[in-house]
Amino acid sequence: MTSTVTALAPSTAVPTPGRPAPHIDTGKVADLIGRLLIELGEDPTREGLTGTPDRVAAWWSDFLSPAGAASATCFSESRLSDQLVVVGGLSVWSLCEHHMIPMNLQVTAGYLPEGEVMGLSKFGRIAQHFAGRLQVQERFTRQVAERLTDVIGHEDVAVAVRGLHLCMSMRGVRMEEARTTTVHAGGRFSTDSILSQQFLTVATAQWGAP
Ligand code: ZN
Repeated sequence: MTSTVTALAPSTAVPTPGRPAPHIDTGKVADLIGRLLIELGEDPTREGLTGTPDRVAAWWSDFLSPAGAASATCFSESRLSDQLVVVGGLSVWSLCEHHMIPMNLQVTAGYLPEGEVMGLSKFGRIAQHFAGRLQVQERFTRQVAERLTDVIGHEDVAVAVRGLHLCMSMRGVRMEEARTTTVHAGGRFSTDSILSQQFLTVATAQWGAP
């Protein structure tokens, strides 16, 4: 089991399909944030808040337009057989669509290369791409898995996500230690229990405690 890949020539670049980044009118958003502050009993003209609406609007624009997912590059590598590749330590921030409160998603992805390997940095870009919107963890997990399946070109893809949802930690039940785990197991990961166990062992080791 390894994730070491060196000196490979690019063979294919698969464009990222799906949603175009929304056009954000930052002036309009800043105006709305100013009005929200007033409704919340604040004075948006007081010293500490004068730049806040503009900063918040700029942040929304950045968040909803994650860069760098334009293409995912694969590299020819014919001498791989039954090697499990696991890429972990991918940490992205998204927003829970039910409360518009942040959630941190730690992503581990695994696949079995067949003649090609995927550029390792692209895993993080794909995770960022699907995190940059109002989300739920379950849909995020499926979208990342489907995108990796498209790029890799076969179903032998597994994705495990551990989520820290601030909507559970700072409101409602206030369970700060709660973590939500979602797992997508495609192809041989769904039929080969040893393979899926290997993947989950690596994934959970990446996460550490709690
Ligand atoms: Zn929530």
